[in-house]
Amino acid sequence: MITRFPPSPTGPLHIGNVRTALFNYLFAKKHGGQFIVRIEDTDKTRSKKEYEDDMLESLVWLGIKREGELWHQSERTEIYKKYLHKLIDDGKAYISHETEGENREVVRFKNPNKKVAFDDLIRGAVEFDTTELEDFIIARNIDDPVYHLAVVVDDAEAGVTHIIRGEDHISNTPRHILIQEALGFPRPIYAHLPLILASDKSKLSKRKHGEAVSLNYYRAKGYLPEAMVNYLALLGWNPGTEQEIFTMEELIGQFDLAKIQKGGAIFDEKKLQWVNKEHIKRLPPEEQRKLLVKSLEGEPYLVGEPELDLEKLPWKKVSKEETVVYLEKVLEIISSGNMSRVPLDIMRYAEREGKGNVLWPVRYALTGATASPDPFIILEILGKEKSLGRLEKAIMALKNAEIKDS
Ligand code: GLU
Repeated sequence: MITRFPPSPTGPLHIGNVRTALFNYLFAKKHGGQFIVRIEDTDKTRSKKEYEDDMLESLVWLGIKREGELWHQSERTEIYKKYLHKLIDDGKAYISHETEGENREVVRFKNPNKKVAFDDLIRGAVEFDTTELEDFIIARNIDDPVYHLAVVVDDAEAGVTHIIRGEDHISNTPRHILIQEALGFPRPIYAHLPLILASDKSKLSKRKHGEAVSLNYYRAKGYLPEAMVNYLALLGWNPGTEQEIFTMEELIGQFDLAKIQKGGAIFDEKKLQWVNKEHIKRLPPEEQRKLLVKSLEGEPYLVGEPELDLEKLPWKKVSKEETVVYLEKVLEIISSGNMSRVPLDIMRYAEREGKGNVLWPVRYALTGATASPDPFIILEILGKEKSLGRLEKAIMALKNAEIKDS
């Protein structure tokens, strides 16, 4: 069993393509088969090496491992030419002299004008009348095959047994089958995946949804690869049980094309966030802490000095006077203590005096933000000197306000 992922490197990797790659990978691995990747770069003006590199690196990041050689269609012109000549020699294709602005010698496929039927593993029996396709073009000239020819030749030469791809390709399948038959290739089994839709049920597209369609967008936001894989696996597939959190190994074990839905699958970032949280919880504490620290990069209070609103400094009904006492004690703990013991000592003190009473003003003094992670993380990121400076500043400001008030 061999499946394939043949992206065109004409833009950043789309999450729909990631899901397609993932399903091909899961299916192959589940059945002990092979998952191959090839680069469909016949469109010379739009294909870019940077997109190819980004795509290959993304697969590594996700843990989707490809096998075998990496083919580039741009390097296989001679092979396609051989098949084009064979079709022409067999009377199944012909060179057509056409003028469309310029003189062209396109290769057209001689359409037998018949009905093509196939059993799609997801959509069931599908039938197309190919007559309306007329004698379609299979090469812009003998050295420049179009996708339909290249895809059929490559899949056959690589021994691909199952073609799992987006539903947007279903209308291409009859052409591919006609070319396969003309070349005497075996027909692979097809499975066309439901589209991924945005929350407004429109097709998820770059034009309409911007950067939020590319894997890099979610990667830059800090989502874990485990979460991306898990969430994308659930777009159109479910195991038929209550389980929602899966490792790659579990997905391979449970994946089943028969359980893929026909209707579009809605991409919901809220759900992705939840899946991500569940995966974070499963990481070792040290990893979790690193992620948290990373997620705080660029927070205003880490980049610059916090602006304090003195009214927000005390916790609930606590007075400014009492707040000064709490902050001074914490200041003392930090300045005298070993940084590794500081959190524990502050926590002990806070438990005695009331957690909110102590921890709230510490956190606010350090960040000037009413919503931020716990003060111990902030203390650690800021370090001893900066933390002491900020606490001192808050204490001074509170004392000055008291003098004014009295
Ligand atoms: N290069 C095509 C794409 O990226 C592949 C389609 C196919 O799977 O045959 O959409």
